[in-house]
Amino acid sequence: MEFFPYIPRPHQQAIVTTISNAFNDRSHLVIESGTGTGKTICVLSAALNYALAHEKKIIYITRTNAQQQQVIKELRAIRQTLKETDSRKEKIIGVGIQGRSNMCPHAKNDEELSKGTSEELSKFCSNEKKKTRNSHKGCPYYRNFVNEKNQVEDMIEWIKKELPTAETFIHYCEQKTICPYELNKKIVRDATVVVIPYIYIFDITIRNMLFDWLGVAEEDVLLIVDEAHNLPDYLRDLFSTQLSAWMLR
Ligand code: SF4
Repeated sequence: MEFFPYIPRPHQQAIVTTISNAFNDRSHLVIESGTGTGKTICVLSAALNYALAHEKKIIYITRTNAQQQQVIKELRAIRQTLKETDSRKEKIIGVGIQGRSNMCPHAKNDEELSKGTSEELSKFCSNEKKKTRNSHKGCPYYRNFVNEKNQVEDMIEWIKKELPTAETFIHYCEQKTICPYELNKKIVRDATVVVIPYIYIFDITIRNMLFDWLGVAEEDVLLIVDEAHNLPDYLRDLFSTQLSAWMLR
């Protein structure tokens, strides 16, 4: 219970021990626990203890942005319990990533663009970057990300120190006119905990991109699936294709 930041209730002790044993045995584990029983802190404290001791990264996938925020808040609480002299403290770095529709300031502030698919947003972004490289037009967030190296380094230091939620992080980047999406890609390599939506793992193209950003092999990752009972419905939707009557004509 070294990383547990609160006075544990008996069932929490049992959960943390069970999870720690699963990591030590390199096995899979499914836990069912009611709302309000403190699942997030139990899972995170056990996983972090193992990850730091064995140089692993934690990928924590959540269904909603609210769950993502909760993970980052608990991570902060864990870090506060460690003494300043504890060298593991500075390794507790967590990053929350959301889709480009939330992270790109252009998409976030444009109703039409925000409804684009990930492929459409990716194409939009590539075009903006191209324009930025070849002219004075294009994306100011990308231009500053590339040109303002000192500012970007200062921002990375602030993020590692404060562990902001994705929402605070995006707002902070918008204020500085630096692309949140590009900055996140740079930080995740140093992060011990990466909190992301399901799609980053279950879409093979996005997963490959994520592992490129992380710079780790899959066997060096502890994968935590929050609210895993959602997976059957989620995966059915993800891998389903709709054919309209018009297309079948
Ligand atoms: S570089 Fe960043 S801000 Fe610019 S279009 Fe791409 S995601 Fe959006």
